[in-house]
Amino acid sequence: METLTVEAVVLKTDDFGDANRVVTLFTREYGKVEANAYGCRRTRSPLSGALQMFNHISAELTRGAKVDTIREADIIHFYDALTNDLERLAYASLLFEIVNRMTLPRQSERETFDLLTKALPVLGKRNPKIAALIGACQFMETSGVQLNFSRCVHCGAELDGDAAISLLDGGAVCMNCIDAAQDCRPYPTALRRTFETMLGFDWRDDTRLSFNSRQLDAAENFFLEYVHSVLGGGLKSVQFIRAIEGLTG
Ligand SMILES: [Zn+2]
Repeated sequence: METLTVEAVVLKTDDFGDANRVVTLFTREYGKVEANAYGCRRTRSPLSGALQMFNHISAELTRGAKVDTIREADIIHFYDALTNDLERLAYASLLFEIVNRMTLPRQSERETFDLLTKALPVLGKRNPKIAALIGACQFMETSGVQLNFSRCVHCGAELDGDAAISLLDGGAVCMNCIDAAQDCRPYPTALRRTFETMLGFDWRDDTRLSFNSRQLDAAENFFLEYVHSVLGGGLKSVQFIRAIEGLTG
């Protein structure tokens, strides 16, 4: 049987049977990989601590005819801040759910692996809503399905000042092209700057990011509507986020 050694983040877990778990890993080497971990929910299983969502791990898998199996897993980094804080947990789940839904198994995507490993510590210590939105925006950019936030999708002109934006047309629309565009909505300069800042964000930079909260909400609502339209269905983590907002006021 072929054995694979991988470095990965745990993207998703689903329990099955008495003590088993299907674990979706995003690996550095092979992209997204799904594998079964038998007995891992038993407290004495050597796999039990490592195979939790958001963990950065190294693992050994064996390839099977139908499913792969995780034989060994060791924690490289565990982000306890994400499991102890509901808001951080919800926003980290949002980024992970988008990556999971938008990727196909076994397509190596080193940029996505690097993005997840850089975003995890930031989600654990800074504003999680901002960190998750930056992560999701940058991920959509590397996936090649991003909206064009800076140039008019019709004439290519660089935007200067308020404009419009269209999900159907794939991004910003300048005032000269507005009659040719479908389903336009306002795209104020402040919203464009928010997206440009997010796309250009360097995860190693420790300077505090501050966005006006109304602007941030506008960016979040708009971006999530776009992600929904791409995925053709709802995101569970968004329901989770809204439920927490309802609790905290
Ligand atoms: Zn134009």
